[in-house]
Amino acid sequence: MAAFELTGRCTVLDRQEREAISGTGMLADVATRLKGHRRQFGDRVIGVGVAVPSPVSAGQMVQPTLPDWQDVDVADIFGADDGHEGLAGLVLAGNDATLAGLAEARRGVLRGVSVALHLHVATGIGGVLLSGGVPVPGARGSAGEFGHMPLTGGSEPCRCGSVGCWELDAGARGLLRAVGQPDEGDRMVRAEQVIAAAATDPGCGQTVERVAEALGRGVGALVNAQDPEAVGLSGLAAEVYQAAPDAVRAGYLATLMRFRRPEPPALLPSTLGDLGALTGASELVFDAFLTPRGLGAWPAPEEKTA
Ligand SMILES: [Zn+2]
Repeated sequence: MAAFELTGRCTVLDRQEREAISGTGMLADVATRLKGHRRQFGDRVIGVGVAVPSPVSAGQMVQPTLPDWQDVDVADIFGADDGHEGLAGLVLAGNDATLAGLAEARRGVLRGVSVALHLHVATGIGGVLLSGGVPVPGARGSAGEFGHMPLTGGSEPCRCGSVGCWELDAGARGLLRAVGQPDEGDRMVRAEQVIAAAATDPGCGQTVERVAEALGRGVGALVNAQDPEAVGLSGLAAEVYQAAPDAVRAGYLATLMRFRRPEPPALLPSTLGDLGALTGASELVFDAFLTPRGLGAWPAPEEKTA
């Protein structure tokens, strides 16, 4: 949980690792704690942006990583009890991977890039294509589910309903599958442990190399399809790239079309770290606020004191 100012200054308010309880229960708890922090900012709060691990359509999580979170209405939970003790009238939710890409385009490694592709790898693989810094959201606001392209070459069922999805080879699920660990529980923590052990444990090292190459191959496929100027990497994508850059590049160059290989789009690990998704959520709010309608709804100082 963090407060962002228009200048980009960020103050972290609260940071917790949480057990994955029900979506409604967890978000209601976060909303309650956010209300506690909100008081210190008084009238300066213009809205609340929420990053969630799911494609979002019309404020609802449509196919979350966690099945219990299906159809949770984020704006409803955070907007409840609006008023003096509430949060704010403006509550906007977005997919965490999409928001991580938006943040890179505004305040990170993809600033000034004309057409940018961003990949955020966690349990699965998501991201966004940005044109002139603006996300291409898709017809329902749920574009960028790159992990569900059938790139494994097999027909293993994926949790999404499809088969042979890229996230089964790359991402936390791919890493755990490759080391023979169960595909359950806190995948991110265990995947990070495998990456951290890669330098000293040959088994983990080989696994990370294999996942890195699978990651690179998928990036090549996406670059062939989208023709970006550069590719941002965050979450596990940045960690895997830093642990095995040559394997990522080998997979990437092998799948790029020949004419792209002399000058392949740069792979750029994120500089925003785990604040990327929240930074993107703040940009979502500022984008909605900095419009004639958003500014028109903001009370002038004399009206506030009247
Ligand atoms: Zn899938």
